[in-house]
Amino acid sequence: GKKNNKNSIQFYSQSMRDTSHQLIQLEHELRLAIQNNEFELFLQPIVDLAKNTITKAEALIRWNHPTKGMIAPDNFIPVAEKSDLIIAVGEWVIQRTCQMVKKLAKLGYDIKISMNLSSAQVTDSSLFSYLHNCVQNYKIDPCLLELEVTEGVLVDDYSVANKLLSKVRTIGMSVAVDDFGTGYSSLSYLKQLPLDFLKIDRSFINDIATDDNDKAIVRAVIALAHNLNLCVIAEGVETKEQLNFLTENSCNSVQGYLFSRPVQFKAFIALLQEQQNT
Ligand code: C2E
Ligand code: CA
Ligand code: CA
Ligand code: CA
Repeated sequence: GKKNNKNSIQFYSQSMRDTSHQLIQLEHELRLAIQNNEFELFLQPIVDLAKNTITKAEALIRWNHPTKGMIAPDNFIPVAEKSDLIIAVGEWVIQRTCQMVKKLAKLGYDIKISMNLSSAQVTDSSLFSYLHNCVQNYKIDPCLLELEVTEGVLVDDYSVANKLLSKVRTIGMSVAVDDFGTGYSSLSYLKQLPLDFLKIDRSFINDIATDDNDKAIVRAVIALAHNLNLCVIAEGVETKEQLNFLTENSCNSVQGYLFSRPVQFKAFIALLQEQQNT
């Protein structure tokens, strides 16, 4: 009756307070994490199938929390995206990426690094100049930088994305569509936007060794991309069977646990050295 109702309302508002309190706490800790330099940028190799070598890596952020240990991005990027914090986190990622490209070049490795951009970064009017300044400060070749943007962002923020991507491509950076096929969006943006790579989402790769529908989708996506002059990267490649299917169907590059998990900079260098020695 009435009493139960009241209790359920109280319970509801109490849990609402808890979650919003937790969010505020997490936001506060994220601000400190930037100041205390608690983020780390891991690199996951991307293998070019024609060259059979690592030509690129995706930069993936982790939070090395003083008490909770290593925290995966899905546990804090969405929170950072709800506030302006994502801009500061994103700028840290850009700095660190340019620094790593520079270090790799000094070691004689022309490895491209791709970084993930959130919607708020794409619509941030200072993003381009931030990127451009970073490239100039580190004196790196902009061809060694790639931006990954999800199709949702490309469609929702179409005109601002169009301007940004045109500018970054003018200075030589490349652009990849991330998580392709998961955005429930029309395909018309593909012919209108300046793009270079299409990353097929892991969910389509999972069962390609056994599922005929996934085989058909992946074949069609590769054909579509190639007809639009885009190169294809398959994400989440974990087995030899998946790799064989992708190789047979002219996929350009692959990324996944079969080759390596995302690793720290030092371990990434070791992977490059190992590849040179074989
Ligand atoms: P994403 O951009 O789709 O990144 C690929 C995710 O798949 C990564 O998870 C990677 O570790 C994982 N992965 C790679 N290969 C395999 C595989 O073979 N099997 C499986 N099961 N997983 C694989 P991670 O590092 O946890 O990143 C999750 C998401 O967080 C990313 O998805 C991206 O959306 C976001 N993220 C990561 N770093 C950044 C960043 O610096 N900025 C922004 N805005 N978002 C980021
Ligand atoms: Ca990505
Ligand atoms: Ca992805
Ligand atoms: Ca994703």
